[in-house]
Amino acid sequence: MGNSTSPLIALYGGTFDPIHYGHLKPVEALAKQVALHRVTIMPNNVPPHRPQPRANGQQRKSMIELAIAGNPLFSLDDRELQRATPSYTVETLEQLRAETGAEQPLAFIVGQDSLLNLQRWHRWETLLTLCHLLVCQRPGYSLTMKTSAEQRWLDKHRSTSVEQLHSMPAGKIYLAPTPMVDISATVIRQRLAHHLPCDDLLPAAVAGFIRQHHLYT
Ligand code: ATP
Repeated sequence: MGNSTSPLIALYGGTFDPIHYGHLKPVEALAKQVALHRVTIMPNNVPPHRPQPRANGQQRKSMIELAIAGNPLFSLDDRELQRATPSYTVETLEQLRAETGAEQPLAFIVGQDSLLNLQRWHRWETLLTLCHLLVCQRPGYSLTMKTSAEQRWLDKHRSTSVEQLHSMPAGKIYLAPTPMVDISATVIRQRLAHHLPCDDLLPAAVAGFIRQHHLYT
C-alpha cells in the first residue's frame, strides 16, 4: 500500500477457550475490508486473579491450530504461553515493536466488548503508541463508550481511512463494519456442559478435539 515497510501486521489476542466462529468470521471479513494479508492469533496466559481458562494453554493452542489449518490468513504466535508469568498485551506489543522497528505498521484486533473495557487494561494509554486498534462489531455491546472522557478519547483517535492504517505505524482506532456473530466461548462452554450441540458455533475439528479430550464437561 504505497510504503516501504512490510504490510500491516495484525495481531489477535484472547483466551480462545475455545476458539470459535465469533473469533474467526468477523476477522475474515475485517481482513478483506482493510487488506490484511495475515492475522497472528496470540493466546494469552491468564493472570492468577482472573477466572482461569477451563482448557490449559497447550489445549487452547491445539484448538487454534486445528481451527486455522489450511487457512492461509491465520497464523499462531504462542509467545505469551511460553512465558511463566501472565503477560500484559502492552508488554507483548512492546516486544513486537522492538522486533519490527518503529516504522512498521502494527495493529491489534479486538471485539467491541474489549474496546469498551480497554481503559481497564494495564497501561492502556500506551497501547496506541505501539499499534492501531482494529475493532470488530459484536452483538449486544454498546457502540458508545462508558464515559464521555472515554468517548472523547475514541473520537480523537478514530479513523475511517484504511490507507492511514497502512501508512502510519500506530495510533488509529478503526471501527470495522464486520458481520455480527452472536457466539461467545462462555455460551459454548455452557452448552457443552449440558451436552448441547455446538456444530454451528465452532469448526468441526475443534469440536472433535473437545470431545476427544473431554473438555468443558
Ligand atoms: P469468553 O466468553 O470466555 O469471555 P470470548 O468468546 O469473549 O470468551 P475471548 O477469547 O475472550 O473470547 O476473545 C478474544 C477476542 O475476540 C476479544 O477481543 C473479543 O472481543 C473477540 N471476540 C470474541 N467473540 C467475538 C464475537 N462473537 N464477535 C466479535 N468479536 C469477538
